[in-house]
Amino acid sequence: ETSFYFYMSTKVAVVTGSNKGIGLAIVRALCKQFNGDVYVTSRDVGRGEEAVKTLNSEGLKPKFHQLDINDLNSIKNAAAYFKGKYGGVDILINNAGIAFKASDTTPFGVQAEVTLRTNFFATRDVLTHFLPLVKAGGRVVNVSSMLSASGLKQCSPELQQRFRSEDITEDELVALMQRFVDEAKKGEHKQGGWPDMSYAVSKIGVTVLSMIHARRLSKERPKDGILINACCPGWVRTEIAAPGAPKSPDEGAITPVYLALLAPGATEPHGKYVSDKEVQPW
Ligand code: NAP
Repeated sequence: ETSFYFYMSTKVAVVTGSNKGIGLAIVRALCKQFNGDVYVTSRDVGRGEEAVKTLNSEGLKPKFHQLDINDLNSIKNAAAYFKGKYGGVDILINNAGIAFKASDTTPFGVQAEVTLRTNFFATRDVLTHFLPLVKAGGRVVNVSSMLSASGLKQCSPELQQRFRSEDITEDELVALMQRFVDEAKKGEHKQGGWPDMSYAVSKIGVTVLSMIHARRLSKERPKDGILINACCPGWVRTEIAAPGAPKSPDEGAITPVYLALLAPGATEPHGKYVSDKEVQPW
């Protein structure tokens, strides 16, 4: 049962930052709905194993692998593991993310750098190393936020035009995200045309990166039928959001899981920003 050939034909789903919150709820739902191995991943092995125990106590059997998206070696190790054991991945959900509390007094420039490092740059690193492993028919879901859409509207017309354009490249997006951090450190981001919210800017990056990768996959792997989308889980009661948020983590998992389980052969949505299972304007 545990032979090489067994695992090579077993489907596999990987969820980043899934030791708690929405990520844990996504793993729970996939364990119930996805016919394959489902991985809790966590930067901290102890927290990851606790999460697996929690799900075990509910009768579910996820697997575990360490993954700190801020650590390139950890990303490479995990990618090599899934490549070696399963020949790739079928579902990748980039859920790991951070947010400073509104009351946090850390200087804006530091918040910008730290927030963008995890939410945008590290998510991009995961995609760089995992997208080549995504198998034909695969599904990739990047957990963004409604604040990406509202943040976009607060950008200068020039930035909005770039973030909505069909020809923006990954390099251009990376340079724009870096420009935000640099200007934030100098206190010049508002003059630079940016909203006053690092989290929103980081999630603009996640949404636009999803769109860029979708166009690239369509062009470079047209026959593989891989679908990649960005989504908002809604406003969910987790450590990131205030306790008054309307959705439970399980409810927050619904849209990401819907995008991860789009039926075989489906051609859309692809390269979209989705919330409440509906494609939203960008
Ligand atoms: P959460 O409960 O704080 O969970 C965040 C998860 O990300 C935790 O497992 C955390 O691990 C992990 N993480 C952070 N940095 C990481 C890293 N470098 N490597 C690996 N894992 C890392 O928050 P949540 O609300 O479930 O957030 C999940 C996603 O939903 C985030 O992308 C967030 O931006 C997005 N989102 C949330 C809401 C909301 O209302 N809650 C709304 C829109 C979007 P640790 O336990 O080790 O810190």
